[in-house]
Amino acid sequence: MNKTPAPNSFTNQPDDRGHFGDYGGRYVAETLMPLILDLEKEYRAAQDDPAFAEEFDDLLEHYVGRPSPLYYAERLTEEVRKDAPEGPKGEKRGAQIWFKRDELNHTGAHKINNCIGQILLAKRMGKTRIIAETGAGQHGVATATVCARFGLPCVIYMGAKDVERQQPNVFRMKLLGAEVVPVTSGGATLKDAMNEGLRDWVANVHDTFYIIGTAAGPHPYPELVRDFQSVIGHEARAQMLERVNRLPDLLVACIGGGSNALGLFHPFLDDPDVKMLGVEAAGLGLDGDDHAASLTGGAPGILHGNKTYLLQDEDGQITEGHSISAGLDYPGIGPEHAWLKENGRVEYDSCTDDEALQGFQLLCRTEGIIPALEPSHAIAKVVERARAMDQEKIILANLCGRGDKDIFTVAEALGVEI
Ligand SMILES: *Cc1c(COP(=O)(O)O)cnc(C)c1O
Repeated sequence: MNKTPAPNSFTNQPDDRGHFGDYGGRYVAETLMPLILDLEKEYRAAQDDPAFAEEFDDLLEHYVGRPSPLYYAERLTEEVRKDAPEGPKGEKRGAQIWFKRDELNHTGAHKINNCIGQILLAKRMGKTRIIAETGAGQHGVATATVCARFGLPCVIYMGAKDVERQQPNVFRMKLLGAEVVPVTSGGATLKDAMNEGLRDWVANVHDTFYIIGTAAGPHPYPELVRDFQSVIGHEARAQMLERVNRLPDLLVACIGGGSNALGLFHPFLDDPDVKMLGVEAAGLGLDGDDHAASLTGGAPGILHGNKTYLLQDEDGQITEGHSISAGLDYPGIGPEHAWLKENGRVEYDSCTDDEALQGFQLLCRTEGIIPALEPSHAIAKVVERARAMDQEKIILANLCGRGDKDIFTVAEALGVEI
């Protein structure tokens, strides 16, 4: 099986200044420019070096636990079929639901795939200090994990509000040897943590590598994060062909910044019969401000060095996202998604907190899998779509994280005291 990301084998590549259509690019201060040009040069060299891919593959197999299984969710499929309305000609409805089990990775989500790739780049560049931003703490934990594994010091920037809200992950990062720096500027959340990370990088470039956690930021980050996460789609594609000798009809993934979705989608972009659906967090609903649906409820603007869809007020100020799942409330989205939306290759929809909670509980009861709240957004939409598709159709969704971290949030939402 080909587990190596094959970064240049797709038609969907940015131009040489990092633009996906109108989006992406590198809108950065002059001081940052040489850093990202250097990073790009090194990334191109790594892409041409078989030893880099070999080490990446080896760590993914023996440290992360890849390939992750491809799983047919038979009981969930049956559950959907029970009350799926027939089609206009009496067709039986209820598509087969399959999951890519990336929640089984070491550290419990897809984020580790990207962190392994970036720390190998850091090592290649001779950098001896790692920094990262984190919101809920998942990317911080994955970064602290690879830093422990490679014996590099690690500083994690985290909004002071998030430090308050995410104590278990803060403690995990500290156990792993990371220094967690609370950021009090701006709204004291993820966006501000990322600004602080970029500032640190400029000041300490001689020894520091910045590991960005999603397919956003200045070029080449959106591209390289996508490439490292594409192992998800490469595996899924090969596993589908091996198991049922055909490709899925619909791919579904949740979107915060968009890295797990691009990781699944990208190796299928050139398969015209495979449809794709990205699911953003609609929070309390798109009519109000309490959501994190940058594509469906935002507008184009510039943040963190790239042009993309952002949550913003009438003055162009970036607003705070809301979602029941802390991993989805980034106020932007990776630029490649903005482009895939505009060119129509991928469809985007959103899912409320309540719908996600239902998806969460349904998967627990039908399959014995406690998903993270992020992919629960995708699960809710999978159920909705499966009901309207014929039974021979196949939906493949990315189960990008496990739910252990979310049980307290879910308990509170369900009014249960634990
Ligand atoms: C961080 C996270 C997300 C959101 O990030 P993407 O870049 O959109 O994938 C989704 N799911 C889980 C489990 C996460 O930890």
